[in-house]
Amino acid sequence: MFVHILLAKHHFNVRHGHAKQRCQKTHHVVGGLAAFGCGGDAHLELGAFGLADGVFAGGGFSQNVDDQDVAIPGEKGVAGGVAGARSGHATDNRPMAPRILLTTLNAKYIHASLGLRYLLANMARHGGDDLRQCTVLREFTLQRPVAQVVDALLAELGPQEDGVQIVGCGVYIWNVVQTTEMVRLLKTLRPRVQVVLGGPEVSYELEAQEIVRLADFVITGWGDVSFPKLCRALVHGPRPLMKVIAGEQAPLDQIALPYAEYSDADLAHRLLYVEASRGCPFKCEFCLSSLDKTAWAFDLDAFLAALQGLYLRGARNFKFVDRTFNLKIDASVRILQFFLDRLPTAAAGQPDAALFVHFEVVPDHLPERLKAMIAQFPPGVLQFEVGIQSFNVEVQQRISRRQDNDKTEANVRWLVAHSHAHLHTDLIFGLPGETLESFADGFDRLHALQPHEIQLGILKRLRGTPIARHSAVHGMVYASSAPYTVLHTGVVDAETLQRFTRFSRYWDLVANSGRFPQTLALLLNGPARPSPFYAFLGFADWLWQTRHATSGLSPEDLVDALFDYLGAQLGVSAQTVQAALLADYVASGARSNPRALQGLLPRREAMLLEGASALVQRQQRHRASSG
Ligand code: SF4
Repeated sequence: MFVHILLAKHHFNVRHGHAKQRCQKTHHVVGGLAAFGCGGDAHLELGAFGLADGVFAGGGFSQNVDDQDVAIPGEKGVAGGVAGARSGHATDNRPMAPRILLTTLNAKYIHASLGLRYLLANMARHGGDDLRQCTVLREFTLQRPVAQVVDALLAELGPQEDGVQIVGCGVYIWNVVQTTEMVRLLKTLRPRVQVVLGGPEVSYELEAQEIVRLADFVITGWGDVSFPKLCRALVHGPRPLMKVIAGEQAPLDQIALPYAEYSDADLAHRLLYVEASRGCPFKCEFCLSSLDKTAWAFDLDAFLAALQGLYLRGARNFKFVDRTFNLKIDASVRILQFFLDRLPTAAAGQPDAALFVHFEVVPDHLPERLKAMIAQFPPGVLQFEVGIQSFNVEVQQRISRRQDNDKTEANVRWLVAHSHAHLHTDLIFGLPGETLESFADGFDRLHALQPHEIQLGILKRLRGTPIARHSAVHGMVYASSAPYTVLHTGVVDAETLQRFTRFSRYWDLVANSGRFPQTLALLLNGPARPSPFYAFLGFADWLWQTRHATSGLSPEDLVDALFDYLGAQLGVSAQTVQAALLADYVASGARSNPRALQGLLPRREAMLLEGASALVQRQQRHRASSG
């Protein structure tokens, strides 16, 4: 954030932990700044800078500007508005105000950066009204060429003249490569611009990072307070002496909530990240949140009031980034009650405006009171991210992950049977001492519970995480560049890791997509099959040998591949396979004509789900297949 300041926190938290592992895998993070400092031992220097009381002359502009990498129908062109504001200054002959730009490269347009919005929201409180008035938020996506991003930033800043110009960048594991190039070009074209970095990727192990060398300042850990203070010092002096500043971890009641910074366009078109708490009390060593040592809760009344503000503005799609939503059951129940109370009116007159709420939960803590609340939600509203990571007790102990496997199983089983929550469960392959065989046991154990999705990640060594202590003893070798994925371990060779990577990709396409429930049952559960894991591994190996690709496979390609494999390789009759594939294909709403189903497809049914969003379609497919 500044980077991350904003995000940082959550992001950290959220994205540092299992979430972080997950996010890094799927590149779906939120961008933020909050990540500045979550403590830890990587702060190279302590920042010390005084704040002057000077008054800022000039106005600047205060629009919250979002980059439109994806065209939004009816959205006004913000660039024009900004240009107008700027030229107004020039003609008024007032001093040019300093420009502060908050920016990050999100993985996708729908990922609105919560961290950046925290920074923006706290500019007035911790920097001053004058700074808030000349601060702009401008997000991009990774798909935008770096040169275009820099062009846009410089256009936004306008000529430097005598004013201080500051660009705060949120740096994450998924954008560090492109952000490094962005900063390099920005500093080349305008050396005097002050580049401030923040975010989890630049909160630890700074010494060898090129992006840190290029930047003027780095705020590690939380940035909500430290970024505005740094901006104030840069604008009014005195200039901080230290390049690396340990982010101030202020009490949460001193941090302004960011939710008013979501624009109407954000509400209409993007995921809204929210957090009722930061931090995590657990210590899973692969996770940056393990450094938090505790969790901090925002004032719940204030948080719910902010949620209500978003709701009244039309927000219906909320993604909680709390690392452990079900840690404090009183708070969890109140938050669920908030959404339950709004169910009757949420979609009134607007079928596409139903509530959707995503939470990350720890799997072994589901008291009856929480269950009773969860059970009241209808289909399509709740989505739970359930981090299992490993069922191997030895591995759990080795990485300091406390998890009651029996309770975990019982709770997942209960959620599948008695709630309508959509369950995304997570496993991580490549943990120290985890073999392919022990992972297969855990996969089969989880698969038997029938969660809607099993998300398969590969261990990454996130900067700052204590998992590094196992590297020597357990032969852990990680990629040296982001996302620092494990390449081989003492018990898993490189070829097996590549084999698993393909397994994971194909599992997403065939199982997690929800497109092939009946066919998947034939594949995994037919007579003489090995366990589900090895049955799918056999298919994955065959698919790779015959197609040599893990991307670019259409649903039709998969239909034909499944037909060939089940028939020619497993000896299932063509009639049986075609019946399963036909049912799956029609129910999925796909509309082409795969070779294996030539002459069998009815015409009208293929339109079944047309018009529903991808997310809704995916959940509908899972619900349909689970009866
Ligand atoms: S429970 Fe473990 S993996 Fe999840 S956020 Fe906390 S420390 Fe990270």
